[in-house]
Amino acid sequence: MAKKKAKEIELDLSSNWDYAPSMESTGHIQLKKKYDLFIGGKFVKPKSGVYFDTINPATEEVLAQVAEANEADVDAAVKAARKAYDTVWSKLSGKERGKYIYRIARLIQERAREFSVIESLDGGKTIRESRDIDIPLAAAHFFYYAGWADKLDYAFPNRNPQSIGVAGQITPWNFPMLMIAWKIAPALATGNTVVLKPAETTSLTALKLAELFQDAGLPDGVVNIVTGYGQTGSHIVNHPDVDKIAFTGSTGVGKLIMKSIANTNKKSTMELGGKAANIIMEDAPLDQAVEGVINGIFFNQGHVCCAGSRLFIQESVYDIVMRKLKDRMQALVVGNPLDKNTDIGAINSKKQLDTIKKYIKIGKEEGAEIYQPNCTLPKKGYWIPPTLFTNVAQSSTIVKEEIFGPVLAIQTFRTVDEVISKANNTPYGLSAGVWSDKGSKVFNLTSQMRAGVVWGNTYNKFDPTSPFGGYKESGHGREGGLQGLEAYLKFNA
Ligand code: NAP
Ligand code: MG
Repeated sequence: MAKKKAKEIELDLSSNWDYAPSMESTGHIQLKKKYDLFIGGKFVKPKSGVYFDTINPATEEVLAQVAEANEADVDAAVKAARKAYDTVWSKLSGKERGKYIYRIARLIQERAREFSVIESLDGGKTIRESRDIDIPLAAAHFFYYAGWADKLDYAFPNRNPQSIGVAGQITPWNFPMLMIAWKIAPALATGNTVVLKPAETTSLTALKLAELFQDAGLPDGVVNIVTGYGQTGSHIVNHPDVDKIAFTGSTGVGKLIMKSIANTNKKSTMELGGKAANIIMEDAPLDQAVEGVINGIFFNQGHVCCAGSRLFIQESVYDIVMRKLKDRMQALVVGNPLDKNTDIGAINSKKQLDTIKKYIKIGKEEGAEIYQPNCTLPKKGYWIPPTLFTNVAQSSTIVKEEIFGPVLAIQTFRTVDEVISKANNTPYGLSAGVWSDKGSKVFNLTSQMRAGVVWGNTYNKFDPTSPFGGYKESGHGREGGLQGLEAYLKFNA
């Protein structure tokens, strides 16, 4: 990729140089040509008879075929989950359930490299992220919730916690394996059984996980995986024998699901969209703040619900922050997700690429000023260079709407009150970031932000012990921590 050096250190801007490629090997991974549905502990052919291709968005090559579950397939999966709940899983002691979940966690660790490579192949995210973030965190969630399985009475003293039954779980494509771990681990720890539908573009790690459940000896039917499109998800949502819906995805689909279950006894947790504010105060450590902004929006191609997609810079440091930001963007490597040097991988799908391009076009049409560094994008696959917009207003479409791509909209502010009102002026409320040298300023801002997670002098940090979730149109309920357990329990006392 072409590089330009930072202006302030006066290097030759015209020279081009490349890192030597450092490719992650794919020789060790095992993928079947065709994947069936995972129901009752076995891979079974879909009654629909239909399969669809899952592709590598960096090359557009077909990786495998995946079954599309219809209503009858979903019904079979729910029946298997109910049977496993009634006959096995709800009858096991917490200690025994915990042993299975620990075993799953250990097996994920053992096969971490294979899962990481498959995650990057199927979804387009960089190997650095899937290897260092997605897969280790997924294992950490199973370890964490395994530890709670036999301690529910201590977690909720005097409340007599009871499992709910069959949980229907629907996950998105941005953190495929991690979102599955966030959902399956607490459901199993609390004694529920599961019917899960992964996102259509990233089903492979879910199906590899099904193989791992078989290896772990998890009793048949405790977790069932039905692949397919949105329609498959709606069959889960509308199935009368599903007791709880755990959904992560867009606010639009979240609203549809809430309407569908409004007249039922189904419990729900909704982890929806976001439009996070990242705020740089004039006294912030600016290099760290710039690095945090880069991480906040360009990490995982901006396919992050909590991406810091709105940046607010205090006016007095605007020029210097912009210079540092542009210089840093110039050094980002866009390209093959399996190359360990890559910072920004492939956009997950053609559909998402078109959405991001549409927003970039709208940004320009509405008069915003665009900056993209010079970089050569691969010929095949789905790519967007890191992009920032200045000269935007609170009313600009790219400031108001979730883009879900590597696109940053930048505004300035003078006072704390001004930035709080601007940052909170959004229908979303998932996350935010604040950068300042003074703890008192950080706490003042964080306490006034209407966001489920607010990071201080860091960004995109996750931990299984910490609850995650949103306000307003970013959803309800929390995943992670004790709150994540509570979402899978009913209380009789
Ligand atoms: P999406 O289109 O809402 O899809 C999410 C999941 O729901 C997918 O499995 C999808 O299947 C399925 N689905 C689609 N229509 C459905 C319907 N009518 N009934 C039931 N299920 C249905 O979202 P996405 O584009 O995959 O993911 C991006 C969104 O997720 C962003 O808005 C992002 O902010 C949000 N997100 C939020 C969090 C959080 O924790 N708050 C975390 C990650 C992502 P298909 O894949 O087949 O369409
Ligand atoms: Mg794919």
